[in-house]
Amino acid sequence: MTNPFRHDLSVLEPETRQRLARKPAHYIDGRWAAASAAIPVLDPSSGAQVAEIGAGGAAEIDVAVAAANRALRSPEWAEIGPAARERLILNLVALIESNAAVLAQLETLDNGMPSWFAFGPTIMGSAGVYRYYAGWPTKIAGETMPVEGPPGAGVFRGYTQKSPVGVIGAIIPWNVPFMMAAWKLAPALAAGCTVVLKPAEDTSLSALMLADLIEQAGIPKGVVNVVTGRGADAGEALVRHPGVAKISFTGSTATGRRIGEIAGRNLKKHTLELGGKSPVLLFDDADLNDAVPGAAASIFLNSGQICVAGSRLYVQSRIHDEVVERLHKHAMTLKVGAGFSSDVFMGPLVNAAQKQRVTGYVEAAASAGCEVLRGAAVDDDAGYFVSPAIVTGAMQDAVITREEVFGPVLSVYRFEDEEEALSLANDSEYGLAATIWSSNISRVMRVSEALECGKVLVNNSGFPYPGLPEGGRKASGHGKDLGRDALDACLQTKSIILRI
Ligand code: NAD
Repeated sequence: MTNPFRHDLSVLEPETRQRLARKPAHYIDGRWAAASAAIPVLDPSSGAQVAEIGAGGAAEIDVAVAAANRALRSPEWAEIGPAARERLILNLVALIESNAAVLAQLETLDNGMPSWFAFGPTIMGSAGVYRYYAGWPTKIAGETMPVEGPPGAGVFRGYTQKSPVGVIGAIIPWNVPFMMAAWKLAPALAAGCTVVLKPAEDTSLSALMLADLIEQAGIPKGVVNVVTGRGADAGEALVRHPGVAKISFTGSTATGRRIGEIAGRNLKKHTLELGGKSPVLLFDDADLNDAVPGAAASIFLNSGQICVAGSRLYVQSRIHDEVVERLHKHAMTLKVGAGFSSDVFMGPLVNAAQKQRVTGYVEAAASAGCEVLRGAAVDDDAGYFVSPAIVTGAMQDAVITREEVFGPVLSVYRFEDEEEALSLANDSEYGLAATIWSSNISRVMRVSEALECGKVLVNNSGFPYPGLPEGGRKASGHGKDLGRDALDACLQTKSIILRI
C-alpha cells in the first residue's frame, strides 16, 4: 500500500520525469546555458532529492540583463504591433492549457500543493491571467489635449505617449510559483517590456518549463529570461543591476524592505507585494454554514501559505464558542497528505525550515497559555506536514497575533461590537486583505470602507481575479499585481508639446 504521506511518483507523466532529469541550466537569450553550480530540489512530502536547478549569481544575471536589454530594443519585439503581442501571449495561453497536467505535477512535487489546487487555481488560473493581459496591448493609449501656450506664441497641442518601462527584474516566492510568475510576466509582456525572472530557489521547476513554452509560443529570444538561484546571490544581483529599470517583487516583508532600500538608493522603480496578517470579521448575523467553512478555507488552503490568508479570526462574542467548536470539527475533516491523491485538501509545507517555523509559532502560543485545537494527525517523521491548528486565548499583542506565520494556523478572538471589531482588525503593521462575514449590507459597506488594507472579501473566502488589483498597504508593501494597475506599473509616460 502506498504511504498517504509520500508523493506517489508512479503517477508522474513521462514528460514530468524527463524534466526532473534535466541538467541544471538557466534560460538566457533564448538558449539553455548550463549552470556552473546546482541547488538540490527536494520533494516536500519526503525530503528526498528529485531534481537539481542552477545556482545562478551575479554573472548569470549580468548576461540575462544584457540579453533582456537587447531584446527590448530589437525589431522582433520593439517594432511588432500590439496585435502581434496579443497573439504571442495567446499562443502562450494555449500552450499552458495543453501542458497543464505536467505543469501541475511539477508544482505539486516542488511546492507540495495538492494536485487539484495545482491544476485548477494555479495553472489554469495563470492561463486566465495571461489571457486577460493579452487583451491589453491593443488598448494601451496616451491622451491628447489642447495646451495653452504663452500669449502670442502660437497654437499648441499636448499628448502623452506610453512606452514600456524597460527591463523588469521579477522576483517571486515559493507559495504559488507558477501563478506568481504569471502575475509578473503577463503585464510586462502586454506592456512590451522584457523580463529577467528569478523564481524562488525552493520552487523553480514550473518557471523552467514556462521558459520552454515561451519559446514555443514564438516570443522572441531575450524577451523572457529565467535565472534560478538563491535570493542573496541571483536575487540581489538583479536588484542591484543598473540595466534593470524596475523590480517587481513578491515575498516576505523583511526581504521587501531590503529590496526597497537598494532600489531606492539607485532610484530604481519597484513594486513590493509583501506579507500579511489578514483579519476575518465574523458577525453574529452571518450564515455560519457559509462562514465557518469559508473562514477555514481562508487559512487552510495551500496549508496557509497564501499571502492573503485570513489568519486572525475575530468572532462576535455571542457566537464565539459555537464558531470555535464548528471550526474544530471542520478542521478534523480536512484531509492532510501527499498531494497526488485526489481527496487531499492540504499537502506538506514547502520545506523543513517552514515546518520548523510554523511548529515553533504553535508551540510558543501553547507555552504562553493559549489553547490549541488540532485537525487530523499527520505523519511527522519525514516530509513537512503540519496538522491544521486553531489557537484561542491569544492576546492582541501576542506574537501569534502580530507576526505572519504563513502556515495552517488560525488564531481566534472575541469582539463585542462593530467598533471594537474594526479597531482590532486594523491594529496590525500589515494591511494586505480582510474578510467580512455578515448579512447586514450597511455594516458590510461601513466596515469594508474603514478597513486599512488593499482587498476586502465579503461573504466569501476569496480567489484572485485577473482584472482586480492585488496588493497591500503598510508593511504589506506598495504597488499592485493584476488589473490595470499592474499594467500601468510596466509603462512610462512621456508628455509631448507640439506647436502646430
Ligand atoms: P522571501 O522574501 O524569502 O523570498 C521571496 C523571493 O525573494 C525568493 O525568490 C528569494 O530567493 C528572493 N530573495 C530573498 N532574499 C533576497 C534578496 N536579498 N534580494 C533579492 N531577492 C531575494 O519570501 P518567501 O518566504 O519565498 O515567500 C513568502 C512570503 O511571500 C510571505 O511573506 C508571503 O506573505 C509573501 N507573499 C506575498 C504576496 C502578495 O501578493 N502580497 C503573494 C505571495 C506571497
